[in-house]
Amino acid sequence: MFAYVVYAMEQGVDKNVDLQSSSTKRMIGKVVVITGGARGIGAATAKLFAENGASVVIADVLDESGTVLAESIGARYVHCDVSKESDVELAIQLAVAWKGKLDVLFSNAGIGGTASSIVDLDMEQAKHLISINLLGNVHAIKHAARAMLRCDTKGSIICTSSSAGIMGGLASHPYSLSKAGILGLMRTAACELGVHGIRVNCISPHGVPTDMLVSGYRIFRGKEMTPEQVVKLVGEQGSLLRGKAATVEDVARAAMFLATDGAGFITGHNLVIDGGYTSAIGSLS
Ligand code: NAD
Repeated sequence: MFAYVVYAMEQGVDKNVDLQSSSTKRMIGKVVVITGGARGIGAATAKLFAENGASVVIADVLDESGTVLAESIGARYVHCDVSKESDVELAIQLAVAWKGKLDVLFSNAGIGGTASSIVDLDMEQAKHLISINLLGNVHAIKHAARAMLRCDTKGSIICTSSSAGIMGGLASHPYSLSKAGILGLMRTAACELGVHGIRVNCISPHGVPTDMLVSGYRIFRGKEMTPEQVVKLVGEQGSLLRGKAATVEDVARAAMFLATDGAGFITGHNLVIDGGYTSAIGSLS
């Protein structure tokens, strides 16, 4: 506690702040943009970052839920379709205009695929998915890196891949392609930006019961399942921690770790959040 008081005085932190709770907040002063932050994993991360003192910009296409969430956590909301470069550029500019810099990008927006054999693949649908899931990340990294270089922040960029980017047979062909592509993009961006102190990493969740996963089960299994049934199934089949499925908060905490200075020597890394699923698939039967 004493060390924090000295630190706070050196940093010019307001003497009136609650030092006890501030000392446990890990993102004070960080300015963050979260794409796809209106619901699911992105929303849980927006809440966690805001609780930890970050200034958060939520960029999404779900205007109503994004605005309500932003108001409830003291964040800003901006309409942003990540497949449109100009939307992404504006979202990043909003964060910089609001707080004068950008420290963290959580590039999380994505859509699920449709069930289709490769021989019947609808190429327009495939291109639409790639424009969001893959090119959306290119847009986000490009404009976040520009802002971080301009503001001279040693920022952290976190992209969202998936177990489907590591293994075959878990999702649609375009979805798997997009998630594998994100891993290559992340590593190449990490190589270029490391010299400027900007870290670029990925998280790869598996089986997190969100709207995307529940509708994915409907599409791929051809039947309606409740979120509770999906949790049970994922817990039974998707994790070495038997009976346990990841929560959105599990993923949010992993993203926060990569966002903070505690991960200051980690770049070019893919942090898998899957209860061991991709490490030991052979033992899961
Ligand atoms: P979700 O559907 O609950 O949330 C996705 C969010 O992205 C929504 O808020 C949606 O509006 C937004 N979005 C969609 N298209 C957009 C666009 N063009 N521009 C801006 N925002 C857009 O799904 P989720 O499970 O929270 O997924 C978040 C990320 O995690 C996705 O990239 C997804 O592929 C990835 N992921 C999820 C799982 C899982 O099991 N849920 C597993 C691996 C990876």
